[in-house]
Amino acid sequence: MHKLAINGGEKVRTSLFPAYKVIGEEEIAAVKHVLESGVLSRFLGTWHEDFYGGPQVRALEAEWAEYFEVKHAIAVNSATSGLYCAMGATGVGPGDEVIVSPYTMTASAAAVLVYNAVPVFADIEEDCFCLEPHSVEQRITPYTRAVIVVDIFGQPYDADRINAIAQKHNLLVIEDAAQAPGARYKGKWAGTLGDIGVFSLNYHKHIHSGEGGIVVTDNNELAERVRLIRNHAEAVVENKGYNNLINMLGFNYRMTEVEAAIAREQLKKLKGLLKQRRENVIYLEEQISRIPCLQMPAVRDSCQHSYYVHALKFKSDMVDINRELFINAVKAELMPVELRESEGVNVGCGYVKPLYLQPLYQQQVLYGDKGCPFNCPHYEGTINYRQGLCPVCEKMHYEELITHELIRPPMSKDDLNDVGKAFAKVWRSYSNEK
Ligand SMILES: *Cc1c(COP(=O)(O)O)cnc(C)c1O
Repeated sequence: MHKLAINGGEKVRTSLFPAYKVIGEEEIAAVKHVLESGVLSRFLGTWHEDFYGGPQVRALEAEWAEYFEVKHAIAVNSATSGLYCAMGATGVGPGDEVIVSPYTMTASAAAVLVYNAVPVFADIEEDCFCLEPHSVEQRITPYTRAVIVVDIFGQPYDADRINAIAQKHNLLVIEDAAQAPGARYKGKWAGTLGDIGVFSLNYHKHIHSGEGGIVVTDNNELAERVRLIRNHAEAVVENKGYNNLINMLGFNYRMTEVEAAIAREQLKKLKGLLKQRRENVIYLEEQISRIPCLQMPAVRDSCQHSYYVHALKFKSDMVDINRELFINAVKAELMPVELRESEGVNVGCGYVKPLYLQPLYQQQVLYGDKGCPFNCPHYEGTINYRQGLCPVCEKMHYEELITHELIRPPMSKDDLNDVGKAFAKVWRSYSNEK
């Protein structure tokens, strides 16, 4: 048997994996066109026809709305900004609670804190890793106003069950679809399953404009409030004749014409890029699905996954070593991705630390030194961010989950063969089947 690279043997892979690059001639031409116009942003932060931005931003919004079959699409400078706008638009504020997944990028929960409300973390599903409906229901209190669901790793949330719970308790649903553009749930697009959805256009996502985000909704009022928060609401409401001042403090979350021009070209490529990801997942799973210590990701019934990452579960009873050592051995067999060498090999244990274990929640320090929002006098609920709060999430993170991004375009079959060989080689060395 071949000696493992981690023990000084030869690596399975000795060259870098291809750079993640989805930008081409079309984007370059589109950017050149904008640069030549000289107007790189057309937004004005006053009530004026340019309050809604320039031609590229508006064209992107129209095309995005058409593609995703939704009434309104609003371009912003990141999904983080999009989540903040969406949260503000709902009218959530001090004393309110919002239920959110702990297994997500930090901004999903930060959006709640921006409005001085309190994030309440519910547990995730064992198989799909999205918010678990029973746990959501258990966390509802008289103070709950909304739920932030996350289509984590590209898997749509359990929309039928969570939307029914939300409806029963009169809660708004904000869908963080940053990782799921093009994922489908029962014939509908992920991102359009709740009251407001948010997509990301940062470099790591399926399609990107460097930085950027899109908020979508069918609700006219929420859409207008998002547009106000995006662009200096407080300076606009008077002349616009808008009277509901709750959360009408604006920011500058505006997308530039350059980013919008790039995003328009990227949207045209989404379908093809997703097809490549899905084919890569099928091909890789053909190689690794029979490795007994690895469990392939589930796909929810009647859904199409968009595979932002490929999330495997590690079955520790099948091998003589733990997950961390197993993954270190796999990483040692492989190489980083070109242009991002400093990040190391793109395979890891778990995803992000359950959010409630971050210092912000553990120490409950945020606005000034008076304890807001956690000990705000308007808040009458009970904070719980203790370790053990979401046992499934903690088990996934600390014991079972393996995530990797080696299914992104332009990974070829040869590249994927090396990934498969690395897992198989490490499995053979540590299998306790021998
Ligand atoms: C990437 C991501 C975000 C934030 O996206 P930005 O555009 O970088 O602000 C939010 N939520 C999830 C789940 C993400 O993966």
